Amino acid sequence: MSDTPVKIALFGPGTVGSQVARLLTEQSADLASRVGSPLEIAGIYVRDTSAPREGIAPTLLTDDADALIARADVVVELMGGIEPAKSIILKAIAAGCSVVTANKALLAAHGPELYEAADAANVDLYFEAAVAGAIPIIRPVRESLAGDHVRRILGIVNGTTNYVLDEMTTRGLDYDVAVKQAQELGYAEADPSADVDGFDAAAKAAILASLAFHQRVPLDDVYREGISAITAADVAAATESGHVIKLLAIAERAGDGASGGVSVRVHPALVPLTHPLASVHGAYNAVFVEAEAAGELMFYGKGAGGTPTASAVLGDVVSVARHRAQGGKGPRESHYGDLPLLPISASSSRFQMRMTVPDRPGVLSAIATTLAHSGVSIETVRQQAGPAGTGLATLSIATHRAPESDVTSVLEALRASDAVTEIRSVLRIEGE
Ligand code: NAP
Repeated sequence: MSDTPVKIALFGPGTVGSQVARLLTEQSADLASRVGSPLEIAGIYVRDTSAPREGIAPTLLTDDADALIARADVVVELMGGIEPAKSIILKAIAAGCSVVTANKALLAAHGPELYEAADAANVDLYFEAAVAGAIPIIRPVRESLAGDHVRRILGIVNGTTNYVLDEMTTRGLDYDVAVKQAQELGYAEADPSADVDGFDAAAKAAILASLAFHQRVPLDDVYREGISAITAADVAAATESGHVIKLLAIAERAGDGASGGVSVRVHPALVPLTHPLASVHGAYNAVFVEAEAAGELMFYGKGAGGTPTASAVLGDVVSVARHRAQGGKGPRESHYGDLPLLPISASSSRFQMRMTVPDRPGVLSAIATTLAHSGVSIETVRQQAGPAGTGLATLSIATHRAPESDVTSVLEALRASDAVTEIRSVLRIEGE
């Protein structure tokens, strides 16, 4: 055990950062034993040093970022957002500090620049808390599965949307009511768009895909659909067909040979009730990984919250501090993969289409013919009579796996057909 402390600079003592500061202090003896050197908080960067911070000694606060970096070995960035977080991380790396961050937005948008800087400076860049909060998923994909081939990752990586969809499913709430409830409970922001429109999950999908497939995945190449169009009727239909609707972040190898590539996408999907992801309730997160040798793995836990997320941050702090104290370095960015990133039109899934149709003979065969013309094969059909006197019925068609582009053609043809009054929803079926 060395007496020389590893000096930690903390940027952003907010929800997560304040818990990191608390645990660094409360668990200092254990952490020192695990690292092989004491961990010392070199300072905590804030905009306003006079604002009171519960549980944090005022003497630790500073508004001089450069001076704090200069006296640190490890910089922990928990401010969030792109700037000034990016400049601070690059300055820290240039000054020879290892960096721990939970900033998925920054990593998804500027990861390569940060990884290259860290590699050039021979320092660590760790980011376990950037995806799924407390759940260890970065390290398993980046390190534990480094000897395997990941085929597919299906993740529930946004607690807000999982909470909203779960409330719609288990309590029959409408979307707007469930979102309002999530806001009242602090699960959703006043402006919930980053969550409900899938931006947060898309950033996490890009990070997971880049680690799983060893290649850079620009955020712009992640297809994204949110949950705001999901209705109580969609949820009820999902239950009837033995599914539950989840917002999934998906990264998978798709296609073969010259048409093969990697599909990275975020969208709501019907998940069979028998799939482990179907039983992820409330604001919990889970990531389901399918790898060639390992088979199926499931990682489950709290995807957010100050203390749970601080656990993941501290795990990283211990790793990088251990390298400082005892030598060694974490993995560099692995980006040798060169599979094309496929557009959504090149991916394929099973689909469930719900439509309102005239309740008269010949309609079903007209619709079946339209699907057949585009090469989309029907697996099941369910028809329910509409309200009395309307002359309408609801038709639910589940298809076999079909290319997205073929389904797009089918939908265009169905919309133009007098056999269909309205297409009410089209959802992909995943996890089978
Ligand atoms: P937060 O509660 O909003 O805290 C952010 C902290 O950073 C605050 O102390 C804030 O200072 C400071 N800060 C923000 N912008 C700053 C600037 N321009 N200059 C100086 N200080 C600045 O955020 P959080 O929820 O702890 O999240 C921190 C990071 O962890 C984010 O990258 C987030 O995506 C990630 N993360 C969070 C969770 C979670 O459950 N919260 C889970 C996983 C990952 P003031 O107090 O002065 O505003």
